[in-house]
Amino acid sequence: MKKINDGKKVLKIFEENGYEAYMVGGAIRDYLLKLPINDVDITTSATPKEVLKLFKGIPTGIKYGTVTITFRENTYEVTTFRSEEGYYDSRHPGEIQYETSVLKDVERRDFTMNGLLMDQTGLIIDHVDGKKDIKHKYIRTINNPDDRFNEDALRMLRAFYFQSKLDFEIDSNTKASIEKNRNLILKISAERVLDEMLKILHGKYLKKTLKNMVDTKFHEVLPGLKEGILHFSKQDEMPLTDIFFSTCFTLNKVVPSYWKFSNKHRHKYQSVANLANSKINFGAKELYEYGLEFTQAANRVNYILRKDKLRVLEIAKDFNDLPINSSLDLKFRARDILTTTNRKAGAWVNNLITDMVNQVLDKKLKNDYNELKEYVIANHERF
Ligand code: ATP
Ligand code: MG
Repeated sequence: MKKINDGKKVLKIFEENGYEAYMVGGAIRDYLLKLPINDVDITTSATPKEVLKLFKGIPTGIKYGTVTITFRENTYEVTTFRSEEGYYDSRHPGEIQYETSVLKDVERRDFTMNGLLMDQTGLIIDHVDGKKDIKHKYIRTINNPDDRFNEDALRMLRAFYFQSKLDFEIDSNTKASIEKNRNLILKISAERVLDEMLKILHGKYLKKTLKNMVDTKFHEVLPGLKEGILHFSKQDEMPLTDIFFSTCFTLNKVVPSYWKFSNKHRHKYQSVANLANSKINFGAKELYEYGLEFTQAANRVNYILRKDKLRVLEIAKDFNDLPINSSLDLKFRARDILTTTNRKAGAWVNNLITDMVNQVLDKKLKNDYNELKEYVIANHERF
C-alpha cells in the first residue's frame, strides 16, 4: 500500500513538470484484488532522459524506454508511452516508437486486468473493461486474441501463469484462441518459456492450470510437457511441491536439450532420477549418500510414476536414525588410523574409511573408538 501511496506522489511530480503519468499493470490489478503488491510500473509521456532529470534512477532498458527510479526507498519501473511490444518475441525492433497517448500504451498490454491505470488522485481509469473482468475473475486479451497471440505468443503462457497465480478463468474466446494458436509458442526462446513455466509451476492454483493446459492441448506442444503433467493431472490429493518437483524432473529427464534448467537444478533432478530408477526402497547407504532431500524426492517420483507408497515420513525417521551422516562422524579418524598402524598416508586410508563407513551403516560395526580401532588393526593390511 505504501508503494501505491508514494507512487501517487511520484505521479504528482510528473504532472507538475508537465508530463502525464499513471501507475499501471499488475500493481493496480493486485491492489483491486487486495493481494500483496510487488513491483509497481509507471507509464508516462516523459522520455527516459526526461525521467532521469526528475528522479534518481538507472536506465534498465533505455532502448525500450525503461528507467528504474527510486523514491522514498521504493523503486518504480517507469516506461514511456509506447505501442510496440515487438521486443517480447524474437523480433527486436531497431528503434522504439514512443506514443503521445496513454490509450495506445494501454492497448499494447496483454490482458484487460493488466490494462488499468491509476492517476495521482488514486482514481482508476479503465479503457478496456478491466475492472469488470477482475470482478468476475476473467483473463481476457485486450482486443482480438488471435492477433495478440500472433504478435507475442508468450502471452498464451502468461494467461496460464495468471490463472495459476490468481485462480481466474480464461475467457472462452481467449481460451479457444490459445488452442488454435498453441503451436506459436515454439517461436519463443526456450529460456523465456522456462521462466514463464517456472512461474506457472509456483502458482497456488497450479492443478486447475494444468487441467486447462490439457484442455487447450497446449501440453502437446511444449516438448515433454505431456509426459511431465499427465501422470498426476487426475490426482487431486497431490501436494503442490510434489507436482512442481515431478514436472521439473520429468521435463529435465525427457527433453534436457529444450528445458535448460540451471546446472544446480539439473544436477538435482539427475541425481534424483538415478536414485528413483535404481530401486524403490532406500536403505541406510542411499540415505547416507544422497541425503534426506533427494531420497524423499525420489520416493515422490516413484510414488507418482510407479505407484510406490509415499513414505517421506518413514524416510525422515530412517535418516535421523543413521549412525553417521558423514565419514567425519566416525569416532576413529584418519589421523588415528595413521598413528595406530604406523603406515604412510596414501589412497589406502580413504579406501579403509569407505569400508568402515559401510560397516557402520550396515550396523556390522558400532561407531565406537575402541571397536573401530580393533577393526583397523585387524584389517588395515587388506587396504
Ligand atoms: P506479476 O508481476 O504479478 O507477475 P504483472 O502483471 O505485473 O504480474 P509483469 O510481467 O510484471 O506482469 O508485466 C507488467 C505489465 O506489463 C503487465 O501487467 C502488462 O500490462 C504488461 N506486459 C508484460 N508482458 C507483456 C506481454 N508479453 N504483452 C503485453 N503486455 C505485457
Ligand atoms: Mg509485475
